[in-house]
Amino acid sequence: MEKHPPPKKTTVGPKKFSIPVCGSISLLCMANGTRKAGQGSKWIRPSTRQAIYHRDGFCCAYCGEAAEHGHVLTLDHVQACELGGTNDPSNLVTACLSCNSAKRDLSMRDWFALLRDKGVDTTKLSAKIRRAVRRPLDRAEGRRLARIRKSA
Ligand SMILES: [Zn+2]
Repeated sequence: MEKHPPPKKTTVGPKKFSIPVCGSISLLCMANGTRKAGQGSKWIRPSTRQAIYHRDGFCCAYCGEAAEHGHVLTLDHVQACELGGTNDPSNLVTACLSCNSAKRDLSMRDWFALLRDKGVDTTKLSAKIRRAVRRPLDRAEGRRLARIRKSA
C-alpha cells in the first residue's frame, strides 16, 4: 500500500505582471473612448466609487498595485457592460488604469486567458475577485472619502 501520496504542488503566481500598455497610450484610450461613452465618470456616485475602492483596500483587484504607489485607480466591470454586466457594486472591482485598459471589454474568460499567458494563477485570482465583490460596502466611509476628495 502506498502510504505517502506525492506532496500537493502549490503554485504561487507572481504578484505583479506587466501588461504591454504604455501609460500615455492607456490614458489616451481612457480619454477618448471610455466604456460609458459620453458619461465620463458620472455613471456612478462618487461615494459608491470610493466605497468600492475602500472595500478592495485601494488596490487593483487584478495585479494588487496600490493607489499609494502612484497608480491611478479605476472601477472595472467584472462582466463588461457590453456583455450584460451591470453597474452594481457586485459587478465592480477596483482596477489600476493599466489592467483596466488591458482588459477593455474582454469577457472574464478572455481576460483570464490573457493573464494566464503572463503567468498569473487565475484560479486564485478568480476566487479572490469573487470574495471581493461579495464584501459589503461601507457606504458611510465612501461618503466620507468622496467629501475629502471633493474638498481636496
Ligand atoms: Zn492592475
